[in-house]
Amino acid sequence: VNFQHANLNEIIHTLLPLLQADALHRGNEIKIELGNIPELDLDKKEIRQLLMNLVRNAEEAMLSKGTIVIKTGLDEGQVSLSVQDSGRGIPKDILDKLGTPFFTTKDTGTGLGLPVCYRIAERHNAKIKVKTGVNGTTFFVKFNNPAHEE
Ligand code: ADP
Ligand code: MG
Repeated sequence: VNFQHANLNEIIHTLLPLLQADALHRGNEIKIELGNIPELDLDKKEIRQLLMNLVRNAEEAMLSKGTIVIKTGLDEGQVSLSVQDSGRGIPKDILDKLGTPFFTTKDTGTGLGLPVCYRIAERHNAKIKVKTGVNGTTFFVKFNNPAHEE
């Protein structure tokens, strides 16, 4: 791990061409809505990995053409990063299995994408939250706002 002051928005911008290429290939669209957020202590490599994993899951959740929205912003005093998809949603009965290593509902899934995300979030003192329904799923990563700490 290599923590340094970094801008989440910049990391997203850097990664965007790669994410867009994947999305285009699948007929999906990626939108970004980046808010005005403070710099955080981040391991850029890990944050890129986390984003890749969440966006990959979002892509895989959308059967027909869909839209992924990557957002940053301030939310209740925390810095929020979210990845929203217009996919089929996550059934209630598997919600508490997310993040368990090797849990997958996919024929060729590894079940390691989310566990890695949870580890990375943990190392950043961030929390992952999920909202899901028939219109899709949003994964939120909530970082402590350094401006709110002593
Ligand atoms: P994998 O993608 O290899 O299955 P993950 O750990 O990334 O492993 O995800 C575990 C499971 O969580 C997936 O198999 C899927 O059932 C569910 N999941 C994760 N993200 C989403 C999403 N955005 N929409 C619907 N289901 C999801
Ligand atoms: Mg995955």
